Amino acid sequence: MNDADPTAHSPTRRVHDRARHPRLARELATIRVMVAIHCHDLHGEDRDLCADCEQLMAYATRRLDRCVFGDDKPTCAKCKVHCYNAKMREGVRAVMRYAGPKMLLRHPVLAIAHIIDGQRPTPELTTRKGAAPEAVVGDATHEREP
Ligand code: SF4
Ligand SMILES: [Zn+2]
Repeated sequence: MNDADPTAHSPTRRVHDRARHPRLARELATIRVMVAIHCHDLHGEDRDLCADCEQLMAYATRRLDRCVFGDDKPTCAKCKVHCYNAKMREGVRAVMRYAGPKMLLRHPVLAIAHIIDGQRPTPELTTRKGAAPEAVVGDATHEREP
């Protein structure tokens, strides 16, 4: 175990590394503000997220961190892999439906960047020899959480 590196075992080491993964870090910032808007307006939370939204945010962070496409990811709405489980997928869709139209006014830079990202084609997955196409890419694993 490497005690010198506090991120060595972190499940979210990529999304928090702005220098190496600016796209993933920006996507994390975007989903975070959208969940916060949704939670503040509909769940009455002023500063922190409610327990359900915390859970959704933690799940979305892990999915983003382990996204098989890495920095080349399409927007999740256009993804053909869809690594979210059904419950969380519905949860994040509710957030997008509510907070999406508010983003241009409240967070225009993130909103415009997301619109531009939405034009990206979904990249082809490259696989290691013997691996299922969606199973392993680079150092990222793809497994749908329960
Ligand atoms: S695999 Fe698809 S749905 Fe999952 S985080 Fe990546 S782009 Fe989003
Ligand atoms: Zn909430």
